[in-house]
Amino acid sequence: MNIVIFGPPGAGKGTQSSFIVKKFQLHQLSTGDLLRKEIENQSKLGNEISSIINSGNLVSDNIVSDLIEKYMSNSIYKSRLIFDGYPRNLNQARNLNSLLTKYNQKLDVVLKLSVSLKTIKKRISERKNLEKRADDNEEIAIKRYQMYEKNIDPVISFYKETNLLKVVNGETSISEISDEISRLIEGIKGWLWEIRQYKYAGIENH
Ligand code: AMP
Repeated sequence: MNIVIFGPPGAGKGTQSSFIVKKFQLHQLSTGDLLRKEIENQSKLGNEISSIINSGNLVSDNIVSDLIEKYMSNSIYKSRLIFDGYPRNLNQARNLNSLLTKYNQKLDVVLKLSVSLKTIKKRISERKNLEKRADDNEEIAIKRYQMYEKNIDPVISFYKETNLLKVVNGETSISEISDEISRLIEGIKGWLWEIRQYKYAGIENH
């Protein structure tokens, strides 16, 4: 399976992705984590992007596209990826489709975590004490939320058209959200299994 998970910053994408990875043996591809690693390693790219990330803006589509292609082109990860934080705009959603076609893969489900700005602010202030992320303060959090809202509507329409979108209520507890996501993925896995059986039966009958 390939899965996309998105939601506003602070919605719990990372936490839920880790849960899905463990339960369904997938690999988490978090563009935010990959970018932060570049900054940590003080790579040329890291130095270029640190001020963009710390101010709450998005880095260029080309940069993130190159990062995700490295994984998608690797057969170890074929059809085993959960895209966490990608795509974030329509251009990225289209680019992801092109890469999926290029590497002979498809998406099985797109999970949207819905959370209000009020809840995000509360979570960011709690997380700040734990993780000390440079982009975690209330002002930047609001900016990142607004940036998310501005770009995400066309992405939502894009995935609605292909019937891949599932909206998950991200206001409840971590375990309740995990349970809902689990149910959704199990349902899709069951459905994919049935399709395979029909195909197999079809081939057998010829
Ligand atoms: P995240 O950990 O997903 O909240 O991402 C942290 C920051 O990394 C974002 O605020 C952006 O600056 C940058 N970033 C992560 N993913 C993307 C993406 N798909 N496109 C552009 N910038 C991104």
